[in-house]
Amino acid sequence: MSFFSTRGNACASASQAILAGMAGDGGLYVPSLFPPMGADEIERMLTMSYEERAISVLSAFLDDYSADDISESVHAAYGNNHFNDPSIAPLKSLDGFTHVLELFHGPTLAFKDMALQLLPQLLTRAARMNGEEREIAILVATSGDTGKAALEGFRNVPGTSCTVFYPLDGVSEIQQLQMTTTDGSNTHVIAVRGNFDDAQTGVKSLFGSAEFNQDMHDRGRVLSSANSINFGRLLPQIVYYFSAYADLLAKGTIKKGESINFVVPTGNFGNILAGYYARNMGLPINKLICASNRNDVLTDFFKTGIYDLRRMFYKTMSPSMDILVSSNLERLLYESADRDGSLVSVWMNQLKTSGSYSVGEQRREWMASVFAAGCADDKETAGEIREVFTRYEYLMDPHTAVASKVLRDYRARTADDKVTVIVSTASPYKFAPDVAGAIQGEKAVRNLDAFSCSEILSSISGIPVPEQVNRLKELPVRHTLACEKDTKSMANAVKQVLK
Ligand SMILES: *Cc1c(COP(=O)(O)O)cnc(C)c1O
Repeated sequence: MSFFSTRGNACASASQAILAGMAGDGGLYVPSLFPPMGADEIERMLTMSYEERAISVLSAFLDDYSADDISESVHAAYGNNHFNDPSIAPLKSLDGFTHVLELFHGPTLAFKDMALQLLPQLLTRAARMNGEEREIAILVATSGDTGKAALEGFRNVPGTSCTVFYPLDGVSEIQQLQMTTTDGSNTHVIAVRGNFDDAQTGVKSLFGSAEFNQDMHDRGRVLSSANSINFGRLLPQIVYYFSAYADLLAKGTIKKGESINFVVPTGNFGNILAGYYARNMGLPINKLICASNRNDVLTDFFKTGIYDLRRMFYKTMSPSMDILVSSNLERLLYESADRDGSLVSVWMNQLKTSGSYSVGEQRREWMASVFAAGCADDKETAGEIREVFTRYEYLMDPHTAVASKVLRDYRARTADDKVTVIVSTASPYKFAPDVAGAIQGEKAVRNLDAFSCSEILSSISGIPVPEQVNRLKELPVRHTLACEKDTKSMANAVKQVLK
């Protein structure tokens, strides 16, 4: 299968697209077609393990990988007890038509593990297949969770290094400790004095800089990305949409062919885009509901067809969604433009030069036939955490609670009573102070650190504190480097750590 750039001027094989991370013309790689998975193929998944489901989805796209490469990669990622739940992505039911897909059972307690446990496998094989002998230098911008998941995925993987930029003061205490305590011979963590958008813009311009690429080449390195701009990040995420559907079928909650909704807490639009790709392959999805926090640029976009960056950036209790420039939306724009890369280029240039673009009413309507959208602020999010815990004794992290609240509002304003899956993206223990505060009241957690708040959560829910959190109390901080948010400072920081 070929992969095309969303800006229209690049073409690659699957392994080349994964190796490069981003297309040379500044665009993102998209598959030339969406391989169909019909109702019978989905039915066959009912009795498959998560790994077998992953192999069947991956094989449909990765036609230049051997069957052995794919199955070894999948087993290395999802086998070996890296996930603390045997079903990898378990589905929990709140009531007959509301289900939670838990994607946080991996080593770093966020859904990023679903892709980042697999990506190093796909990437190192892609390097071998394409005769790439330089070290693959992964550069990552993180809003909190990608960083640790990438560090964990690439730690000590031969032939790679992983350098993460995170916004100083923009991530939770646990998220920061998870990153700065990472060991391994090839991991680097750098704080940026700016927000996530600054970090992401900086990393993207490093990828685009001929001079920086040459400098890395002279050091025996080639750059690649572990952000969701890399198709290798999206592909593993398609799997769990099929898997959740198959689980609902197996339980008898839905009938063969019945369509369902997914509500997805969204930042960079990678998770929900994977759902859209699953839908294009034939998964019966009625609506994909895009849930945002107070940074509601996507809610406005789906309402008006205008993407407008010229607005305040807010820090919220769902920091992994504190994003204004949603990279993967570009891939949806490309479909909305009937795959006309030159039109996408025009919009992206307008965004760069004037801070906004408009896709027009017709394309807005086309998107609205598949996507619904809504947002929730911190007060509503905390209220939702409390409400869900009171009603179902189910603990949600703030990101998942944003989705749950947006679903509640969606149901109130539409007549849509279809079975809906809330995609749960993080363990509540990653954000223990906010979750405990939402349930017990802020006074009860004032002056308590994240570890004490984790104990509170454990005592009210009966779910033990994950050892990944407890361990952080003892681990030494290994990474303390910080840099300014301009590209030059970021480039110098990379040169410093990748001598
Ligand atoms: C990354 C992340 C998101 C946003 O996912 P996107 O693919 O960037 O839209 C939501 N919740 C959590 C917990 C995350 O880590």
